[in-house]
Amino acid sequence: MLFDSHVHSEGLGVTELRKMKESGIEKICSLSFYPVKPLFPQTLIDAFRKLEDFERRRCKVLGIEMFAGVGIHPRCIPPNYATVIEHLEANEWDLFGEIGLENATNEEIKVFEDHLRVAKSKEIPCVIHTPRNNKRVVTQKTIEVLESVSFPAELAVIDHVNFENLDLVLKKDYWIGLTVQLGKLSVEEVAKIIEEHGSERFIVNSDSGYGNEFVTAVAEVAKIVGKEAEKICFKNTEKFLGV
Ligand SMILES: [Zn+2]
Repeated sequence: MLFDSHVHSEGLGVTELRKMKESGIEKICSLSFYPVKPLFPQTLIDAFRKLEDFERRRCKVLGIEMFAGVGIHPRCIPPNYATVIEHLEANEWDLFGEIGLENATNEEIKVFEDHLRVAKSKEIPCVIHTPRNNKRVVTQKTIEVLESVSFPAELAVIDHVNFENLDLVLKKDYWIGLTVQLGKLSVEEVAKIIEEHGSERFIVNSDSGYGNEFVTAVAEVAKIVGKEAEKICFKNTEKFLGV
């Protein structure tokens, strides 16, 4: 049994989800991402409802148990975003994600801090994005923000980690997300990282959806890492989620 910790299932068709399930992936975290910048905060609130209700059922029919990640992606910050934060604060959630920083603007930092404050008080696990550009600097800033709110390390995955920022996150205690995707990491690179650093803190994902179609990434990693697969392709994600 395998777990893909970072998917945007709304961007995947039935055929792709079936392929995922057939490869052995039975659980996923499906994370919020709105493909255009929302004009209203309520747009995201309805998107969370769709994810938790319709999308969870759509996955279930295909035999996949889905955990819904909600929150404001740094590329989708709506006007009056405090309305979204209030909604997050007033309800119960599986996890927040993906959240974090893209360009580390003051607005992004404020939005990220607000999520962390809510997540810390309600003990909600968070999947935290790191960007393609300027990855090292933004990862450093991300860690500073996490530390500034004393965010519990066991509740955070710093995701899309690669050779540019691996040393920065290895120094800390957060979960480390490895994304297997063209332009991120290859299956072989993930295997190499696990061989060097062990399996204790790593979590593998595909970030599939909306154009990234490598839906079997976690299964491909599991095939080549041997006994480490149990942790990095399943158990660590369950530990992170507390399920
Ligand atoms: Zn993503």
